[in-house]
This record gives sequence, structure tokens and C-alpha cells, in this order.
Amino acid sequence: VPVIGVLALQGDVREHLAAVTACGDVRGVAVRRPSELDAVDALVIPGGESTTMSRLLEVFDLLDPLRDRIAAGMPAYGSCAGMILLAREVLDGRPDQQQLGGLDVVVRRNAFGRQVDSFETDLRFRGLLGDPMRAVFIRAPWVESTGPGVEVLATVPRLTVTGADAGAAAGRVVAVRQGSVIATAFHPELTGDLRVHGLFCDLVKESARAA
Ligand code: GLN
Repeated sequence: VPVIGVLALQGDVREHLAAVTACGDVRGVAVRRPSELDAVDALVIPGGESTTMSRLLEVFDLLDPLRDRIAAGMPAYGSCAGMILLAREVLDGRPDQQQLGGLDVVVRRNAFGRQVDSFETDLRFRGLLGDPMRAVFIRAPWVESTGPGVEVLATVPRLTVTGADAGAAAGRVVAVRQGSVIATAFHPELTGDLRVHGLFCDLVKESARAA
């Protein structure tokens, strides 16, 4: 069965491992070393703090190997800080913050500002059937602009966010896909709704079958 790694340098690793394992027909493993990265077919990059994770990627000698795997087409899913790391460019990041690439998007870090620093909303996720998805945002980024190969999977619905920054939040892009790389600004691993992980697992199985 395909092996899906969860980058385990920092952040909510356990929740992602549980969500991946629940997909069935895949194996979930924690990834901390280059040899462990070599052994996986796909990788989840959890939420946490993107500047810290960037620094730890360098310390653990994972930055270049991970960039290479992503450039070579390894499926990847990034949540929140993971989305920031996968983006081509980050606004309001630290100057020494490193990008993994994989998504031709510009993201804005901590984009939702004070009033809606952390919030929840129900949103529609493209391609997923059933009820709207509960999305939990924790000092989340948004996607400021997307390149031509990037598909928008979800936006913040209007009229669901209240507070001074509500106008700025409404309509923002918060989930994207480019080929076998997907990213959400929110945290599906925290709600028990396994549909995003299910989508990623399906994509991983498809790419394993094609290989
Ligand atoms: N604000 C964090 C960052 O800049 C992301 C927060 C999260 O992952 N929940 O990386």
C-alpha cells in the first residue's frame, strides 16, 4: 500500500497521522530524517509555525531533499503553515523563511488580522460531496494570487465572518490544488471531517497506480 509521511518536525502531527490512517489502504508514518523521506510516496505538511518549520527543515537536512521530491512530482498536502511552505512566495513572512515550491501561488501569512485572528466557518469545497465543511482557521494565511495551473477549491463565504476585518476575509481563497499538490489554509485534521484527507489519499493511490 502507498506510504504517506507526515512531516514531524513541529505542529499537529498526531492528528494528521490519525486522519491519514483512517483513509484505509495507505500507511501513515512520521518523517524526521532524509532516509524517512526517501521511503514515503507522499507527504503531509502540518500546521504549526512556518518560520520555525523552515528553520527545522534546514537543521534536519530536509530542505533540499524535500524540494527535490516535490519538484519530481511527489504528492503533497499542506495545512496552514504547510500551505505557506508549499507556496512559491510568501508575503509577511520572515526574510530568511524558505519555500518548498510545488504551488504557483502567493500566500499572505497571518492574513486574517486581529478581529478574525482565529475563526470557524462552513464552506463549500470543490469536488467534495455532502454538507458544507466546517473550517477552522488559526492565525491562517490566505492565497493572495494564483498562477494559471492552480485550481481554487474553496473560498471564505461572504456573510459568515464578523468583526472589523470581515470585508477583507470574505471571498478569500483558502484551498488550492495544482497537480498532485493540495493545500488548505484551515485545519481539517481538527474537526473529524476526513474528506480532505480522503481526497489526498485518493490522489496518492492514483499516482501510485500510474507509477
Ligand atoms: N501563523 C502560522 C505561520 O505563519 C500558521 C498557523 C498555523 O499553522 N495554524 O506559519
